[in-house]
Amino acid sequence: MKHYVIILGMPGAGKDTQADRLAKKFPSVIIKTGDIARELAQEDPDVARILDQGGLISDELINVRVAEKMAQAASDSLIIFDGFPRRVEQAQWLDTALSKEAAVLHVCYLEIRRETATRRLLGRQRADDKVDVIARRLDVFEHETTAVLDYYRQSSRLTIVDGEPTPDVIEASMHAIVSSWL
Ligand code: ADP
Repeated sequence: MKHYVIILGMPGAGKDTQADRLAKKFPSVIIKTGDIARELAQEDPDVARILDQGGLISDELINVRVAEKMAQAASDSLIIFDGFPRRVEQAQWLDTALSKEAAVLHVCYLEIRRETATRRLLGRQRADDKVDVIARRLDVFEHETTAVLDYYRQSSRLTIVDGEPTPDVIEASMHAIVSSWL
């Protein structure tokens, strides 16, 4: 049985860090749509503009790349989604894609306060980590991705993890949760 783990959380929640740490413990493939978006931005100025403004790029562009990465993943590995899905339509698309294979999907929400997100992002050096762009990304999260949380909560697939403590504490919680799923 193939297992998929979605890590959801505001920008700054620690999705990257925790995805990397999980991948050290379990043979995994990480599908990170922020990286896919940045690759697409290199080829397409319209995409680059959306990233600069903190918006979301189109589902069509993202889903095709996600499907490619899913097809490349070995059948025995754990597949971790970092930054996907961010819209309900992406979550629905994923459910349809997974209905064609024997797979289980688990969802983990790393919960942090907006102030924590802002503080952490201001401490990074990425091009889109500027005060106004951060505010816009957090607004987009609240408008779009909160609906994704509801989508998974309604189908009883959402596990909430406190994202406020140190990375080591969160790692221990995530490890226990993911071990119980596999
Ligand atoms: P963060 O979570 O800190 O905002 P990411 O690296 O996950 O950083 O994403 C950076 C940007 O990539 C987002 O602001 C968005 O423009 C784009 N992006 C990432 N994932 C998606 C997605 N699933 N759908 C649409 N756009 C996305």
